[in-house]
Amino acid sequence: MRILLVEDETDLGSAIKRALIQYNYIVDWAQDGEEATDLIEIGLNLYTIGIFDWLLPKISGIDLIKKIRQQNSSLPILMLTAKDREEDKVIGLDAGADDYLVKPFGMAELLARLRALQRRFPLINPQQLTVGKITLDYSTYTISFQDKTGDNKPLSLTKKEFQILEYFLKHPNQIVTRDQLLAQLWEWGNEPMSNVVAAQIRLLRRKLEPLRIEHCIETVYGLGYRFIITN
Ligand code: CA
Repeated sequence: MRILLVEDETDLGSAIKRALIQYNYIVDWAQDGEEATDLIEIGLNLYTIGIFDWLLPKISGIDLIKKIRQQNSSLPILMLTAKDREEDKVIGLDAGADDYLVKPFGMAELLARLRALQRRFPLINPQQLTVGKITLDYSTYTISFQDKTGDNKPLSLTKKEFQILEYFLKHPNQIVTRDQLLAQLWEWGNEPMSNVVAAQIRLLRRKLEPLRIEHCIETVYGLGYRFIITN
């Protein structure tokens, strides 16, 4: 899941980003309202949740939320702010924020609020994704697969493998290009080496092959990859 984080305080922003990455979120961090606007214009649909500070250089968090709602996007947005007066909360919620967290806050609370938001938007953020024999559980960030006898067995994956498999499960039997994976699963401005996708796919295949389930990642030469789901 990809999160758009907009926070101008460097220490807080990097602490939030670190905490989210630990929980398998992919985080694009904008440090002012203009940078956030650019990311929104590039790919608002890429994001599952937004975390927006209120007071930001250039464009405020409130104005960003209004802009997003004008585009009819229902992106769940958690507002961060030092403002704790009731009327401020009302302004934030009226502008289209879905929840409100007053600074200072602990990371455990932030993560709990994000989980709560995900539960409130089940269509966008299902708790589980099952495709073929593979089930991905978002509440525990674990993956399991059904073996030949019908038992569910856990599958141990790294964060990036988890994200790649999630992407494939959401696009079964479709050709997925390397550029698509790079755009969706790696952060902007942090462009990885060109062979990083191929290397990650190799690692993921190595973990899937011994399971002897029918699903596999096929290479479509010159185009990309396809995750084969057979019933
Ligand atoms: Ca601020």
